[in-house]
Amino acid sequence: MKKVIIYFFSFLFICFILPALLTKLDISTSAEANENMAEENTESLSEPYTYNQYGTIKLLHADTNEVEEVALDTYLCNVVSAEMPVDFETEALKAQAIVARTYTIYKINHKKHDNADICDDSTCCQAWISKEDRLARWDGDKEAKWSKIEECVNATKGKIITYHNEPINAFFHSNSGGKTELPVDVWGGGSDMPYLQVVETAGEDGYTQYNSEVELTNEELLEKLKTTYADIQIDFNNDEDIKIVEYTSSGRVKTVKFGNHEISGTEARRLFGLKSTNFEITKEDGKIKFTVIGYGHGVGMSQTGADSMAKSGSTAEEIIQHFYVGVEIKEVNSL
Ligand SMILES: [Zn+2]
Repeated sequence: MKKVIIYFFSFLFICFILPALLTKLDISTSAEANENMAEENTESLSEPYTYNQYGTIKLLHADTNEVEEVALDTYLCNVVSAEMPVDFETEALKAQAIVARTYTIYKINHKKHDNADICDDSTCCQAWISKEDRLARWDGDKEAKWSKIEECVNATKGKIITYHNEPINAFFHSNSGGKTELPVDVWGGGSDMPYLQVVETAGEDGYTQYNSEVELTNEELLEKLKTTYADIQIDFNNDEDIKIVEYTSSGRVKTVKFGNHEISGTEARRLFGLKSTNFEITKEDGKIKFTVIGYGHGVGMSQTGADSMAKSGSTAEEIIQHFYVGVEIKEVNSL
């Protein structure tokens, strides 16, 4: 009789209880696995992008001549926070992050410095500011501002701008004055960069970088010209002696006449410290006034134009497609 009872309970255990236990075990195991997967997914969003190459760059600090090795996306936070106001729209900051990443990778492939990939001098390569200095110059919630920059860089990690599958030379500037410029009219080259065209952007007149003036006395103007043109002679009473001779296709000054010399708009910009080559000249009471529109060389992405587009609802990718004609945005590891 005992044996029958044992067999009966064994039968019950094997047929019903054990499967139920195993099923329960199974469910809890897969639930745990799902949780782990969810954790892994969350982690991967905040993890840095694993660059096949370009993960670390050699950054030359121009003032100390020291070369620092730094992770690309960490470097880009310092660049974006130096190049664009943090209160600009998120999509504009994201566009700036993609542009800066592309510009950096282009510089790695087209080295300017012997011992480094890029330097921190904005007039040579690309602006850079340490986090410490950046926070010291900001007001208000500084850490929240830094987080905004980090989020914009992270949201674009791995993304660069390509033309025919090559990273582009992603020039950018502050304010185009409503119309960007061809590289040939600034540096005399650029036929190999067909993605840099004249494009129009609305809303740039709403920024402080749009309007500026430089006023010089006749003597100051002559002194500045003499630094390059020793034999300069101007008859300030003759309207023909100071005049704009030719404009570029975007409407900027291509050539301007000062007495016995005709100089380029870019040379005039450098000599007189003008914010751009989009200027008019007026003469009165022994003074010469340059009324200037826009800020920077005008080639590629306008930063205020990017912010203006973002305010109107454009995404970072749409902003980039607007300023660089015919380009694609790709994962750098896919090249
Ligand atoms: Zn440099």
